[in-house]
Amino acid sequence: MKNLALLFLLISVISCNPKPHASSEGALPPNSGVHMNGGITKPKNIILMIGDGMGITQITAGMYMNGNKLNLEKFPVIGLHKTHASSGLITDSAAAATSFASGIKTYNGAIGVNNDTIGVKTILEEAEENNLATGMVATSTIVHATPAAFIAHEKRRNMYEDIADDFLDTEIDFFVGGGKKYFDRRESDDRDLIAELKDKNYTISDYFTEELGKVFIPKNQNFGYFTADADPLPVSKGRGYLRAASKMGIKHLLKRSDEGFFLMIEGSQIDWGGHANNSEYIITEMLDFDKTIGAVHKFAEKNGETLVIVTADHETGGYSIVQGSKMDSLATKFTTGYHTADLIPVFAYGPQAEIFSGIYENTAIYDKIREAFGFKGPGRELIVEEKD
Ligand SMILES: [Zn+2]
Repeated sequence: MKNLALLFLLISVISCNPKPHASSEGALPPNSGVHMNGGITKPKNIILMIGDGMGITQITAGMYMNGNKLNLEKFPVIGLHKTHASSGLITDSAAAATSFASGIKTYNGAIGVNNDTIGVKTILEEAEENNLATGMVATSTIVHATPAAFIAHEKRRNMYEDIADDFLDTEIDFFVGGGKKYFDRRESDDRDLIAELKDKNYTISDYFTEELGKVFIPKNQNFGYFTADADPLPVSKGRGYLRAASKMGIKHLLKRSDEGFFLMIEGSQIDWGGHANNSEYIITEMLDFDKTIGAVHKFAEKNGETLVIVTADHETGGYSIVQGSKMDSLATKFTTGYHTADLIPVFAYGPQAEIFSGIYENTAIYDKIREAFGFKGPGRELIVEEKD
């Protein structure tokens, strides 16, 4: 009886043993750091790239004006997201970025807060808590709606100095963008947030002091660089840092944590071209963003444990390509100087890319990033502590 019971126990132990992981990437080196979870290969790093105002027509125009090709074509998985905000069908960048960052629908103008203006923890803050390195690169000011919604919690998007102040509440490892004046020549107080960041283990520099490519970044420090006092220039007027800054960010974040990183990269001015109903502006910014997409894709291809997601917050301009267009000279029209309600494409490449196929709410981007990282719990944590 005893022996039989033991044998039974032995058999059940053997049959309960998990099957060896059926990895689709059998060639991964040992200790590559890719988390395995029930046979699913998890990305160690996630790079979220947001082309502000980049609808299907903005992508199409960039593609045809670039000899019928884009780096975006290298992304095997494509989905669509619904952009509507809680305050109306037509979203703005603040509400949309808050949906990506915090997984909630909120009102236009909201930065990391819900309909009751209560802060909701962002994916960047969650990444920090999970010991990942974090970074942001933008071609707007770094306190503009899209980057702001990943790091700040404020009632209104134009509270730039309060948003700058929120940078001190995080441990973001790397940021590059405009908006220096909101940090060191403030109207609401005399604080010098750049000095305060330096006291918090940051190396901070700017376009006035030295070229971005020449800055030495100590690997045991966080890093911030201001590309302009206010808004950076359009790419057509000489701005050119998005690709280089993104590559620097990746390089620095790899050194900052063995656990992985989360990096948000924004091509901010595709939207500004749409607001200006300026096709040339849209196309030059679109191609600058695509050049950066190419560099990021190349890194992800080599690295093997990085998931890259490219999407937009909304379309801008009601942009269309009309009769009279040729491959290299487009006739275009606009239906609005504001945003539209179009579904927005999502492109994904790397481990877990397949979870981005289908049609879903913009808030699902948050859940899918959490799922890919393997973060525990439902997320969307309210920030209860009172801010001054
Ligand atoms: Zn806009």
